[in-house]
Amino acid sequence: MKVSVDRDVCYGSGDCAHRVPSVFALADSGYGTVLPGQEDRGDEPQVREAADWCPSQAIVIAE
Ligand code: SF4
Repeated sequence: MKVSVDRDVCYGSGDCAHRVPSVFALADSGYGTVLPGQEDRGDEPQVREAADWCPSQAIVIAE
């Protein structure tokens, strides 16, 4: 499963980067981002949890 961040929705709270720093980071632009090479980790429980807890529901998990 692929994980990505919808920058049109993210407001840069940083929760995802705090929760799962091996997958997410807060980019210089101020938005959450998926670290390079980590895009296939969408099926991992902690990634799903980060998506559930994202305050703006900006984390997208898809096939
Ligand atoms: S938790 Fe959601 S709103 Fe916050 S930085 Fe991550 S993607 Fe953006």
